[in-house]
Amino acid sequence: MIPTLTGSVSPNELGRVLMHEHVFVLNAELMVNYPEMFPQDEMVRRAVAVLGEVGKTGIDTFVDLSVMGTGRNVPVLRRIAEQVDLNILVATGWYTYHEAPVFAQLNGPGRLFDGPDPLAEMFVRDIRDGIGGTGVRAAVLKCSADKYGMTDGVMNIMQAVADAHLETGAPIFTHSDPGNETGPAQLDYLESRGIDLSGVVVGHCGDTDEIDRLRRMADRGAVLGMDRFGLESRLPYEARVRTVVDMCRLGYADRMVIATDSSVFSMNFPDEHRREHLPLWDARAVMPRVVTDLRASGVGDDDIDQMMQRNPARILHGSCR
Ligand SMILES: [Zn+2]
Repeated sequence: MIPTLTGSVSPNELGRVLMHEHVFVLNAELMVNYPEMFPQDEMVRRAVAVLGEVGKTGIDTFVDLSVMGTGRNVPVLRRIAEQVDLNILVATGWYTYHEAPVFAQLNGPGRLFDGPDPLAEMFVRDIRDGIGGTGVRAAVLKCSADKYGMTDGVMNIMQAVADAHLETGAPIFTHSDPGNETGPAQLDYLESRGIDLSGVVVGHCGDTDEIDRLRRMADRGAVLGMDRFGLESRLPYEARVRTVVDMCRLGYADRMVIATDSSVFSMNFPDEHRREHLPLWDARAVMPRVVTDLRASGVGDDDIDQMMQRNPARILHGSCR
């Protein structure tokens, strides 16, 4: 069974899945020191309203990829999950573009304080025993690489994620930057660890419309996250739709998953900016807008089901324990 915030579900109960989303993108230190930046009760009410509407559009499962480094807060998420009709899966990992947290730079194999990798142990514990005493277990692993490339810090965390994957089988979801080719670099490393790439979702592949680059990753077995519909600043919506349509025509529906990577609230993206510039960057838009436009462009129901149901069920099978 796959752990969610409110219990467990089997892979065939996942239904339609958004594979890369966030309820909140936060900063744990700001929340402690400047609590007014995250008015919790108001934000819980907002999240319950938004996620309730996501469920009503026909989405059944929401994979929340906020981890440490982006303020993962399971007790708050659980309050929300108890009030909405949606399976919400949580992740473990550490989000950075550059450095690992200092304690991880100093503790671990071959480091100043030699011993087992503390991050790998934390990730395994989150998956096996639950997070922070809540009893909620992480379903998936997350790591990131962006504009600075595969830095020591990025590699430190990827190593721990790979270790935890090899120990638990939990699928790996990445944040990549097509502009810097970090997706292929992530696959190179994971492959070098003997990891089956068919359980790896390379996030933010939808930020490029260069089909050849996408095919090269998919041909290695990896799954492409076409996961930022509505984030106009990276690639216009129409180009994102066209890319998925073209990839489906080329027979890659079994190598793509769909999402928006948006959030109900983000400390990084001011509400006003989103309202003004990114009004359709919203998980509520996937069924009525994205799926409708994919269908209108010739993507068949079978391919839609493949991307939204069968691929997620196959990948998240690795979350079963
Ligand atoms: Zn994300």
